[in-house]
Amino acid sequence: MISYGHFIGGKNVAGKSGRTAEVFQPMDGTVRAHVALASKAELTEAVANAKAAQPDWAATNPQRRARVLMKFLDLIARNNDELADILAREHGKTVADAKGDIQRGVEVVEFALGVPHLMKGEYTDGAGPGIDSYSMRQPLGVVAGITPFNFPAMIPLWKLAPAIACGNAFILKPSERDPGVPMRLAELFIEAGGPPGILNVVNGDKEAVDAILDDPDIKAIGFVGSTPIAEYIYARGCATGKRVQCFGGAKNHMVIMPDADMDQTVDALMGAGYGSAGERCMAISVAVPVGKATADELIKRLIPRVEALKIGPSTDSGADYGPMVTQAQVDKVKSYVDIGIKEGAKLVVDGRGFKMQGYENGFYMGGCLFDGVTKDMRIYKEEIFGPVLAVVRATNYSEALGLCNDHEYGNGVAIFTRDGDAARDFASKVQVGMVGVNIPIPVPVSYYTFGGWKRSGFGDLNQHGPDSIRFYTKTKTITSRWPSGVKDGANFNIPTMG
Ligand code: NAD
Repeated sequence: MISYGHFIGGKNVAGKSGRTAEVFQPMDGTVRAHVALASKAELTEAVANAKAAQPDWAATNPQRRARVLMKFLDLIARNNDELADILAREHGKTVADAKGDIQRGVEVVEFALGVPHLMKGEYTDGAGPGIDSYSMRQPLGVVAGITPFNFPAMIPLWKLAPAIACGNAFILKPSERDPGVPMRLAELFIEAGGPPGILNVVNGDKEAVDAILDDPDIKAIGFVGSTPIAEYIYARGCATGKRVQCFGGAKNHMVIMPDADMDQTVDALMGAGYGSAGERCMAISVAVPVGKATADELIKRLIPRVEALKIGPSTDSGADYGPMVTQAQVDKVKSYVDIGIKEGAKLVVDGRGFKMQGYENGFYMGGCLFDGVTKDMRIYKEEIFGPVLAVVRATNYSEALGLCNDHEYGNGVAIFTRDGDAARDFASKVQVGMVGVNIPIPVPVSYYTFGGWKRSGFGDLNQHGPDSIRFYTKTKTITSRWPSGVKDGANFNIPTMG
């Protein structure tokens, strides 16, 4: 049985709180590991280590910091199979999908290699008489990331890579449901030459999170998870004067116009709706066909595809998706299907009874498809986070756009059409942070930024891309004049550049 403690000051340390949680292996329902749940004192110890290590790291020139990340990348590549295996075993997603999870994180580490350029300030020669003006970006100090279960490699890497590249020390509080990959990444960072104390992993639950929120030495928090927790962390973190960005839940729509290529649309919807058992913040959970003919054709094509979904253990390379993260998650998703039926939606494919032969104790759920979902139903309004797709029929484009805009979540959205005018209008008017045109999961590339609108995102700056450098640094602006500059005597008015 694996036992995860914490990674503090460059080494694995045992938990001291006496509290632990079980980490499951969803494909067969066994307990794979126990993870320590940190007390406030353990979090404080990690912060003290980070605080002691940070000034030297900040004083290490950015090119050298980038070189450590380059070696870190090399080690991630060399240990890719092991990382993907841990990830698949603890999360449940297939090994192939786990490799994508790691790769999307790796791309942000690659972006962070550009830190010598990205952190450059600005300079104006002669902003006034004998006066020059310039700005510099400096690290914040100790910063923290609190991450969800569903991307245990990608999201920790999105947070830690830019933060560390900018010269900060980082405290990662990963999900207690799949801590194995974050712990291994911390070891690889040390193997890459990262100084002890710069990347720390503190495992835990609400107690560790609250300790992060209240610690005066933590200057910024990047959170990803469900919306109620995002709102809690944003409010409490801001109240204690920290810089906070929180990314929350989603209900991503795909609008299907009558002229859409139906083969492409159905393929896209299957992958985006059911991949990773629907446990993606960018999963499509609502399909909005425009017009009755489009809707009828869509449902006709989807039914056999959803019925034929290949569900398998995480190690099965031929599976479309694997088990869900916990039995509790399966139960929650099934209860939403029950609610949908009671609300009057038409369940045209029912995957609730699915059993995986040979893995009867695993956390599996078959694909479900609802037709006739309306906007007052809970299964439309709330995030389900499972392999359940809701079809909401719209009579025209304006109604489809209105659905996307009126929904309280605004993470991702897609339109499928051959009409450039419709696509352009949609991209401009939709009130959602990330938009796909004939792309079902429009996760931006690493050098753009990622973030939702409305109740999907809280804070001014997005994650990864140039915003991540802005988030993890503070700007200082210097106005300077040397004694040889113009001497204009004492000036009792507000100085201007004339
Ligand atoms: P979660 O909110 O349950 O947990 C996220 C983190 O918060 C974990 O580290 C957890 O330990 C901590 N946490 C949980 N309960 C807490 C509490 N009461 N007080 C303080 N901390 C607490 O989310 P999850 O189930 O791990 O992840 C799934 C959710 O994350 C979904 O809602 C999904 O949409 C969202 N998500 C959003 C994005 C995005 O970029 N918008 C990306 C991935 C996942």
